[in-house]
Amino acid sequence: MKRGITDKLHALDPKVKKKIENMFESMHESISMLYDIATRDEKTGLYNNKFFENILSMEIEKAKRGKQKLSIMIIDIDFFKKVNDKYGHIKADDLLLQLAKVVQKQIRKSDIAARFGGEEFILLLPETSLSKATKFSTRLRNAIHSNKILKKHKVTVSGGITQFKNKDTRKIFKTRVDKALYKAKQTGRDKFVSLK
Ligand code: GH3
Ligand code: MG
Ligand code: MG
Repeated sequence: MKRGITDKLHALDPKVKKKIENMFESMHESISMLYDIATRDEKTGLYNNKFFENILSMEIEKAKRGKQKLSIMIIDIDFFKKVNDKYGHIKADDLLLQLAKVVQKQIRKSDIAARFGGEEFILLLPETSLSKATKFSTRLRNAIHSNKILKKHKVTVSGGITQFKNKDTRKIFKTRVDKALYKAKQTGRDKFVSLK
């Protein structure tokens, strides 16, 4: 609550003051709920694609001004169709959620993890070079391998990584990360490929 408002409330009858404070609190909760609805993916709790695209624009601007190294990463579950066939949609949804939790746990506070498509996540890694992003992907892969539930159901992922280059358009940047993912799929899956 703003300082000026707190000062004014101070002079009020305690009962009225309490009522106003409660009102502020429930307004705050509602706004935070609306914010989540607008920015989060319902199934995984990760950010939605729209939010990702908005932040990407801002981060690209910073990278263009030479203010930071910016990397992105795409993660796609291997043979998820088969996982659905074998365990059913409900279990497969559980596994998707489990993976999202592992990803969320591994990233930094300043990173953005979003659900890009059905079983694809996209990660925005500000202030991260390609080599740092690659190191992070190894850590993430290890975390996925050692997660009990994912391990039990043999869930693996493939990923693509790339770093923003000054002459990149947004489209070229995203196409390159897609190419990296495609290469990971083509060369055996359960791996991350980085492209300069
Ligand atoms: P690849 O290793 O080449 O990525 O194989 P794949 O089977 O994962 O790839 P493909 O893109 O052909 O199929 C993705 C499948 O993921 C299709 C659909 O059955 C499943 N899928 C997508 N979104 C969801 C979801 O939200 N829940 C569940 N349960 N399945 C989903
Ligand atoms: Mg896919
Ligand atoms: Mg897949």
